[in-house]
Amino acid sequence: MESDLTKPELSPVPIWRCKDNDCKAWIREELATSSSPECPLCKSSMLKSIRHLPKLVKKNSRKKK
Ligand SMILES: [Zn+2]
Repeated sequence: MESDLTKPELSPVPIWRCKDNDCKAWIREELATSSSPECPLCKSSMLKSIRHLPKLVKKNSRKKK
């Protein structure tokens, strides 16, 4: 096990994405303010989806040189 790798570890995260395929807007489900958020860009409704995102890591955990 190499714990010092800086390569971000991706994990599946539930998100909302705009139902308009031309619109790139998406938000993390945990940041959504309602159970059926609307797109901040085009005001369309949003669909639940999954995105692979780097895990959130504590910024203080990495030592400076
Ligand atoms: Zn949109």
